[in-house]
Amino acid sequence: MSDCIFCKIIKGEIPSSKIYEDDYCYAFKDIAPQMPVHIVVAAKKHLPSVLEFTEEDMAFLGGIQLAIAKIARQEGLTENGFRVINNCGKDAKQSVPHIHYHILAGGDMGEKIV
Ligand code: 5GP
Ligand code: ZN
Repeated sequence: MSDCIFCKIIKGEIPSSKIYEDDYCYAFKDIAPQMPVHIVVAAKKHLPSVLEFTEEDMAFLGGIQLAIAKIARQEGLTENGFRVINNCGKDAKQSVPHIHYHILAGGDMGEKIV
C-alpha cells in the first residue's frame, strides 16, 4: 500500500535497522524502543491487522512464527527469554495498520498483563 509506513520500510523507501528478512516478513528495530531489545516483525503483505488474515495467508502466519524463533536465536534471546505482542485495533492502541508483531527482550519486564 503506497502510503503505509511499514510497506515503505519493507521496500527500502524509509531507512530502517534491519534485523532479519525472508519471503514472509521483514524485521527491524523499533524507532521508539520500549525495552533494550525491541524488534518489529512486519508481514511482507499489506494487511491492516490480524483480522484480515485468511486461509490464503497461512504461509505468512507460519512464516512469521518461525521467523520469530529464528530471530530469537540470532539475537541471543533464548536464555533469558522474550515477549511477543500484537496490538490489534483501537483499544490495544495499534498505531500502524500493517500486520506486525513486537519482540521485546533484554531485561525484566515487570508485571505480566496476562
Ligand atoms: P503498534 O503501535 O502499531 O503496535 O506498533 C507500531 C510500532 O512501530 C511502534 O512501536 C513505533 O515505535 C514503530 N514505528 C513507527 N514508525 C516507525 C518507523 O518509521 N521506523 C521504525 N523503525 N519504527 C516505527
Ligand atoms: Zn503496509
